[in-house]
Amino acid sequence: MTDFNQTRAQFILPEGKIYLDGNSLGPVPVAAAERLQKMLSDEWGTMLIGGWSQAGWMDMSFDVGNRIAKLIGAAERSIAMGDTLSLKVYQALAAALQLNPGRSVILSDTGNFPSDLYIAQGLVRSLDRGLELRTVPPAEIEQALTDDVAVLMLTEVDYQTGRLHDMAALTDLAHQKGIITVWDLAHSTGAIPVDLGAANADIAIGCTYKYLNGGPGAPAFIYVNPAIVDRIQPTISGWLGHQNPFDFSADYAPGPGIERMRVGTPPVIALNVLNTAMDVFDHVDMADVRRQSIKLSELLIAEVATHCPSLLLISPTDPMTRGSQVSFAHQHGYAIMKALIDRGVIGDFRAPDAIRFGLAPLYISEADVRAAVVILADILDNRLWDRPEYQVRAAIT
Ligand SMILES: *Cc1c(COP(=O)(O)O)cnc(C)c1O
Repeated sequence: MTDFNQTRAQFILPEGKIYLDGNSLGPVPVAAAERLQKMLSDEWGTMLIGGWSQAGWMDMSFDVGNRIAKLIGAAERSIAMGDTLSLKVYQALAAALQLNPGRSVILSDTGNFPSDLYIAQGLVRSLDRGLELRTVPPAEIEQALTDDVAVLMLTEVDYQTGRLHDMAALTDLAHQKGIITVWDLAHSTGAIPVDLGAANADIAIGCTYKYLNGGPGAPAFIYVNPAIVDRIQPTISGWLGHQNPFDFSADYAPGPGIERMRVGTPPVIALNVLNTAMDVFDHVDMADVRRQSIKLSELLIAEVATHCPSLLLISPTDPMTRGSQVSFAHQHGYAIMKALIDRGVIGDFRAPDAIRFGLAPLYISEADVRAAVVILADILDNRLWDRPEYQVRAAIT
């Protein structure tokens, strides 16, 4: 059984705040500062360039990747770390298109995160061979799996509403039609149980600063099914994806297996923080996390329905089709969230009118949810959001 009091104690949670935004950026692990300081002094500060081999910096990408693999049903050494998720979308999509050369359509849904769609648009433009990005509403994906589709690219949990796709079922249907799948696990990894192996997913990507708590800009990951990885000729063919980077030969030859999906020098400092953040998962069962996340989400929905009837639930009501976040729409959503944040309840706002609450059981309790709704109800009942300073949109929401 996962002890959620024990997991909560592993994070720095500022006094007087209720943090319901771990779906955007997880909090700092208590151990991170000391581990980082140790890395700076005992590794970089002492070994200098020798750290690449003496401190295992070069292999960190795969060491950390293996820890993430355990959470998402991936085989050992099937994950490479590095770069941002947007870059990983590019890498994944280019590889998937290569595996299905006779077809021209990238299928996604209209709810996908904009960066995933933007990257697809850019790739379509630069490849300039008649490819098409086709988006349909999330509920219509199944019917849209037609014979002209090369790649199905979906984010498993919708960033806006928390709606959860059935990865195993859609992957199976896609495969029946000869379609390669790319799954974005940005809002899944560390939030819900994922089993890439059981789903026989082809390629998956995700970020590590949301439910994995790796810190702002923490490196993203890419998974490629070991059965197909050797067929990929990487489009971003960087030197660290080369068979023998230190031969410095003039021509690119892909490294074995997932190593080819590496690009350049690994972000060692960020990987150290992420590696520390992964410790909490050593004592966590993702089935417990899921159970607790559903409990917290159901509680939030029920409390809001009772005390804040003007908020419209835009997340699925069935917890089995919802990730670990709950969103509500309100005409004055932006101002309401500003007023909430001013009172120590941190969620976020997504245009045009959604307020989002991430529920991360590792550090959020039922008492937090109840306390947050009391404050939310006060803001709505007393129109505390209706102040000029809450209406002005900041650049970053
Ligand atoms: C958070 C998120 C991103 C962000 O990508 P970065 O390159 O890390 O900024 C992209 N796609 C999805 C689905 C996300 O949830």
